[in-house]
Amino acid sequence: MNVIEIDHTGWISNENDAIQIAHISSPNHDARPDCAIDMIVIHNISLPPCEYGGNGVIDLFTNQLNPDAHPYYAEIHMLKVSSHFFIRRDGSLIQFVSCLARAWHAGASKWQNRERCNDFSVGIELEGSDIDKFESAQYATLIQLIRALKLHYPIAHVVGHSDIAPGRKTDPGPYFDWETVNALIKI
Ligand SMILES: [Zn+2]
Repeated sequence: MNVIEIDHTGWISNENDAIQIAHISSPNHDARPDCAIDMIVIHNISLPPCEYGGNGVIDLFTNQLNPDAHPYYAEIHMLKVSSHFFIRRDGSLIQFVSCLARAWHAGASKWQNRERCNDFSVGIELEGSDIDKFESAQYATLIQLIRALKLHYPIAHVVGHSDIAPGRKTDPGPYFDWETVNALIKI
């Protein structure tokens, strides 16, 4: 049985509290065009870069990042971005945008001659970086989340941000274990 449920409004809930889930609404989304949700895009992010456990990512995705709190924040605080999901190092899961809405996570992107991947994808950020391994708790949550998404939407592609924005993006990076994830998301 799947531990993550997705309701008809595109928000997730939890069976038996198996995974800690929070909903924090981000304004950084709009309506999808009329097309199927058939892609998942995996990212990594940490704010400040390579520091884990703080609220920088939540602040960024909710347009509350303090530009004075860190030199890097001064460069990015004005960005209007959000993924649908963020998986913290401990495996806890935050949803920012309904799966039915278009979250602004991929930017300029292209996959198999289709551009603007935000139109038809769900974005999942893992708290991490290109220089650190991800935690096993993150993989456990990610696999449950992808399985739930595949049950609700016609997901045909699970790709990295670097796959759809090559040369511009490197995440989820060399430590992301595609082999294990691809093996475990077949349902
Ligand atoms: Zn990314």
